Amino acid sequence: MKIVVAVKQVAALDDDFEIGADGMSVDPDFLEWELNEWDSFSVEEALRIRESAGGGELVLVSVGDEQARDGIHTCLAMGADRAIRVWDESLVGADALAVARTLAAVIARESPDLVFCGVQSSDAVYGATGIALAHHLGLPHVAVVKRLEYDPETCFATVHRELEGGLVEVVELTTPALFTIQTGINEPRYANLRAIKHAVNKPTEELSLGEIGLDAEEVARAAGATVRSMRSPERGQGATMLEGSPAEIAGRIMDIVKQSV
Ligand code: AMP
Repeated sequence: MKIVVAVKQVAALDDDFEIGADGMSVDPDFLEWELNEWDSFSVEEALRIRESAGGGELVLVSVGDEQARDGIHTCLAMGADRAIRVWDESLVGADALAVARTLAAVIARESPDLVFCGVQSSDAVYGATGIALAHHLGLPHVAVVKRLEYDPETCFATVHRELEGGLVEVVELTTPALFTIQTGINEPRYANLRAIKHAVNKPTEELSLGEIGLDAEEVARAAGATVRSMRSPERGQGATMLEGSPAEIAGRIMDIVKQSV
């Protein structure tokens, strides 16, 4: 049994941050990098399935520059077996569809039984990469998974999805399949010091687009949108509390409405 987990190293904003000179992204001096929270739950779920099956391989795939190495190392220390990182400068600013196209080229070669993605990444918040990836791989998918029971013998999965208002939908399917994993599905383990040291020796392939049979133009064709600008909301536009009797407050509201029309 083979499980592939797509993991992303995400950017977290400092309290005070500035937009970079390109006007399209946050100045990197104000960013810290960490493993996407959702992806630690995916890795934990994959580890639990591997443990209860009594074997199998857990492969990580990440599209990202050198920053992605730390996130991969964290997941290898948790217990993943090996990792593949793909990068090319043309992927700077790649959207969910371009990333999904790239992930698909790597994952198709692995022929996994299960593919896990997070429901969303905390920096880009596309919430789309997993579903686009399932499309490219031609796999059935279930989104926002809160519970997963999987029998590797029969390739049968029973999946609980989280819907609005606490509703739970139970879905059955046979694998191979892709699942987007929701936070809270499990409690991700912390790696101990020994595992963290040992993870350095686990195999990590670092591949270019060419090495996975893609080129920049093909990935660009998959992309759906281009970022044109980024800005912070203007400050000082917050709520004003009106004080006085109900009649005075009503009068103030009338004045404000008149001024704004
Ligand atoms: P998003 O669609 O960006 O909200 O991300 C949803 C999920 O897609 C993440 O939790 C990851 O599992 C996967 N993903 C997104 N971007 C990448 C990436 N650059 N490398 C690997 N996996 C990714």
